[in-house]
Amino acid sequence: MPAPVHVSTHALIRHKLARLRDTATKPPEFRDLVAVISRVLFFEATRDVAMRPVQVTTPLTTVTGEEIADKIGLVPVLRAGLGMAEAMLEALPEATVWHLGLYRDHATLKPVTYYNKLPAKPDMTLAMVLDPMLATGGSAIAAIDILKKANTPKVKFAGIIAAPEGVAALQAAHPDVEIFLAALDSHLNEMGYIVPGLGDAGDRQFGTA
Ligand code: URA
Repeated sequence: MPAPVHVSTHALIRHKLARLRDTATKPPEFRDLVAVISRVLFFEATRDVAMRPVQVTTPLTTVTGEEIADKIGLVPVLRAGLGMAEAMLEALPEATVWHLGLYRDHATLKPVTYYNKLPAKPDMTLAMVLDPMLATGGSAIAAIDILKKANTPKVKFAGIIAAPEGVAALQAAHPDVEIFLAALDSHLNEMGYIVPGLGDAGDRQFGTA
């Protein structure tokens, strides 16, 4: 059994997704929507991280609280994952960000890494691969391959919209990786776009369409 796929059913996410998909939504609002949705996904995906006790002095007394013990790495797949990473980093400023640039070689159809900012000796205990659109799954699989080669003990994937084809490919390649999504759409079209989707998530964030 592969690790679970979590598709949010939250009313706020459904509301924001409709705005995100709309072609009339301009990049500033699109980026805000990506940020809000990403933060909700981040809270969900970090629900079970390792914690340790911490002593806190309140104005009245001392109490044992908790702090996150896991070392969390955010791994945005360039460039569309950038907005997700920024929003998650605001929620957890202690996280580290590893940028990964991947493109698909037209001849081999295999993902090629053109930028890799993984530290030489990564000490993260949990890495979260971020790509808003899980389409064929090629980039996500390649990113997770890289993280596993670097001995990252645990990897999760967060995306905004996925195609069933992408989920199936990712689960086949990395059955241990939990997937967190805001929506699971119908299919991929012949151009590799998710349908109904939202178009090109990079173009729509950065106004390059
Ligand atoms: N990447 C995107 O930005 N959109 C899609 O629909 C598929 C891949």
